[in-house]
Amino acid sequence: MSAPTAVLDVGGGPGLPQRRELRTPVPGPRSLELQRRRAAVVSAGLSSTMPVYAAAAGGGVLVDVDGNSFIDLGSGIAVTTAGNSAPRVVEDTAAQLTRFTHTCAMITPYEGYVRVAEELAAIVPGDHAVKTALFNTGSEAVENAVKIARYATGRTAVAVVDHAYHGRTNLTMAMTAKAVPYKDGFGPFAPEVYRAPTSYPFRDGTDLDGAPINGPAAAARAIAHLERAVGASRLAALVIEPIQGEGGFIVPAPGFLPALAAWCREHGIVLVADEVQSGIARTGAWFACDHDGVVPDLVTTAKGLGGGLPIAAVSGRADLMDAVHPGGLGGTYGGNPVACAAALATLRTIREENLLDRAVEIETLALGRLRELQRTDPRIGDVRGRGAMIGIEFVRPGSHEPDADLAKRVATAAHEAGVIVLTCGTFGNVVRLLPPLVIPNDLLSEGLDVLADALSGGAR
Ligand SMILES: *Cc1c(COP(=O)(O)O)cnc(C)c1O
Repeated sequence: MSAPTAVLDVGGGPGLPQRRELRTPVPGPRSLELQRRRAAVVSAGLSSTMPVYAAAAGGGVLVDVDGNSFIDLGSGIAVTTAGNSAPRVVEDTAAQLTRFTHTCAMITPYEGYVRVAEELAAIVPGDHAVKTALFNTGSEAVENAVKIARYATGRTAVAVVDHAYHGRTNLTMAMTAKAVPYKDGFGPFAPEVYRAPTSYPFRDGTDLDGAPINGPAAAARAIAHLERAVGASRLAALVIEPIQGEGGFIVPAPGFLPALAAWCREHGIVLVADEVQSGIARTGAWFACDHDGVVPDLVTTAKGLGGGLPIAAVSGRADLMDAVHPGGLGGTYGGNPVACAAALATLRTIREENLLDRAVEIETLALGRLRELQRTDPRIGDVRGRGAMIGIEFVRPGSHEPDADLAKRVATAAHEAGVIVLTCGTFGNVVRLLPPLVIPNDLLSEGLDVLADALSGGAR
């Protein structure tokens, strides 16, 4: 079999023809061949959403090795927010590659690291002095936020909430809610992690007296649980995703996050906003917690920050970030210079192309269309989200009973029709949309058409 040079020659980035086009069945013969090779040498513990091998990507499309062009409504899990192979990212990382690829920021630092910290200080919510430490992955950022909170408070306990996802390392597995596939068989887990109920408007209903569990009520429920189970004075941190990602794209009810923030402040608990998925323009603001007017003490970022290169950050109150003894934080690759160049170029792209506003346009278009579908389709229990972070929760008609099978069938039908979508949710019943913010409107609309067809046709 010949190498897929014809496709690779196209190059990636926004110059790729912005269209959905299937030249072979999905997966095509070259992808099937690669899948066969992969099965022989790649751990079965790693799965893939679709057995389609990428050759190029840019704008709103991903082209596979068989020349099929897919509409990308996944952004590699909220990573290529500013576009895949975005021109500024390509140019600046290439330039950095020719200067130096690594020195280790703990040995001889470089300007790019400092500039990323300066940029984050300018966008992190609040008017306090902000300092940053850079890492490679979201899990690593969350682990380090906990280290900093523990050191600064002298306390050990960490609070998290239902449906939370914080990563796959040992501590972050303990903090993640869902056992299968993330935790099952991988214990024992780190101790001193306590889970509280959260705000899930579609599923919260009412309390025993028939009062709706709104944001403040859900916060009171979480606080009462933590005070009983742990005690506020023992908590170093409350770590929470302002909009939950893997757990189901759950937007908490208004007032939930502010009430938790006030309680944290009152008791000296470090509030950590895990913005690894929701941060960096994804929701139409720099951070999802901006929508709630909440100022966290620490913020973790990763996915959308690096334009596809691995970089992660803990940013927050200078007094907390400076509490740790010199040498207490770090890592060989944290804030790699090429990844820093990518992050700076990503942030510049977001500013120069007004991608915060673009995320809001995407929200309007997608929510409008999906809510229209919901009106005539009782299997769509809920449509929710902010910016370009939109979830569709499927249920058995007339109930709240999750329908994971339907979510999977819709996703599979979309894949076969040339649209990349992902599922998520504690119950596996949410289809999530995370388009790159540079996707053209007509392509996004076509992607939504395909989802609608999947619901009315193949997935029925
Ligand atoms: C993806 C994710 C993580 C983990 O990030 P990795 O880079 O995969 O380690 C942590 N928190 C949230 C909210 C995430 O979405």
